[in-house]
Amino acid sequence: MKVSEIFGPTIQGEGPSTGRRAGFVRLGRCDLACRWCDTAYTWDWSGRNGVRYDPVQELHDMGPDKVAEAVADMGVSLVVVTGGEPFVQLDELTDLASGLASEGYEVEVETNGRHAPPARLVLAVTTFNVSPKLPNSGQELSVTIRQEALRAFLATEKAYFKFVCCDAADVELTAGICGNLGIPASRVWVMPEGRSRVAVQGHLQAVAGPAIAKGFNISARLHVDIWGGRRGH
Ligand code: SF4
Repeated sequence: MKVSEIFGPTIQGEGPSTGRRAGFVRLGRCDLACRWCDTAYTWDWSGRNGVRYDPVQELHDMGPDKVAEAVADMGVSLVVVTGGEPFVQLDELTDLASGLASEGYEVEVETNGRHAPPARLVLAVTTFNVSPKLPNSGQELSVTIRQEALRAFLATEKAYFKFVCCDAADVELTAGICGNLGIPASRVWVMPEGRSRVAVQGHLQAVAGPAIAKGFNISARLHVDIWGGRRGH
């Protein structure tokens, strides 16, 4: 399995588990290329987002047992498996989540939601944090939104849906997507885009009112508030 980094104990900074003490396992590679991606070091080998990262430096081959050993030192009950896009390494992700679940951890998997979760993974995972990308990411909805996959996540009853929004128009678009798919508003978190405190605050002011009016929840970016988005937190 290609692992980018393992760190913790820290806190989950986003989504429904915000503020919870957790260990993080960040897997390498991604199947999208968001212009505001804050973990381009997991996938950007060409420099399209501004910095050209070296996969030899950035990715480390590890088996699930080695990852579990690293997590065991943290004294956490919640492990967040994130990326990159963890579903790019689906077999390895499933083995990792199953191993962690059998050790008694709660396992939260973050994903862009383009790939339906297989049954063995659903069994192992406590929560899916699904974040479908809007055009503010620099990509077309026809690429980022796969309705069948999102419906499959919804059917697990373990999924929350987190949309990165910059303005009221993004919230409106989120409402349209969720309406089409039958995703209840109570399962939706609107999160302001931003890799700095100033950017997060600005977008939060723009999206909070419209999101609440639609019945959505709001996600902070607590790790950005605390550490300014510094890597490894
Ligand atoms: S899906 Fe996530 S990891 Fe991949 S480019 Fe977008 S923000 Fe970055």
